[in-house]
Amino acid sequence: MVRKVRIYPDPVLREVARPVEELNEEVLRLAEDLVDTMFAHEGLGLSANQIGELLRVIAVYKGEFTGREDEAQVLVNPEVVYHEGEDVDEEGCLSFPGLYFDVKRPYLAVVKALELRDGKLVPVEITATGLYARVLQHEIDHINGVLYIDYLEPKERIKKLREWKEEQRKKLSV
Ligand code: ZN
Repeated sequence: MVRKVRIYPDPVLREVARPVEELNEEVLRLAEDLVDTMFAHEGLGLSANQIGELLRVIAVYKGEFTGREDEAQVLVNPEVVYHEGEDVDEEGCLSFPGLYFDVKRPYLAVVKALELRDGKLVPVEITATGLYARVLQHEIDHINGVLYIDYLEPKERIKKLREWKEEQRKKLSV
């Protein structure tokens, strides 16, 4: 089911999500909703916080990297266990529609997680680089209550948020 995406400054975006302890109906439904909502909004990734659920579950549009169009990846309790290098690229976020800016992140990230495959949780260790690493890090930040605007210098953050809110107001008034 496509769910409503929470928009900043919804307080749920600042909460730390709790770990999944068992695979149950709630987690399976959440996983499905994350994927449906991510595809509906053409996002590269989505975290549980963004649809108002505080469980450590993220979805990534893996098709972007594999070329298999409908391929989504659902990771449970993901954590970055190693990172290396540096990479600057433009980022957006479904919780900040229309707000894009450059974010510096490690180029390579090793992520440990339980991957949901055919209704089962499989332990995985993913070594990701470039955009894939960026998406994983962005989504893992979300379940820790961290947002991409946190990487901006305070002055820059205030300016960007002011411009973004102004844009949103314009859109609402037409
Ligand atoms: Zn985001």
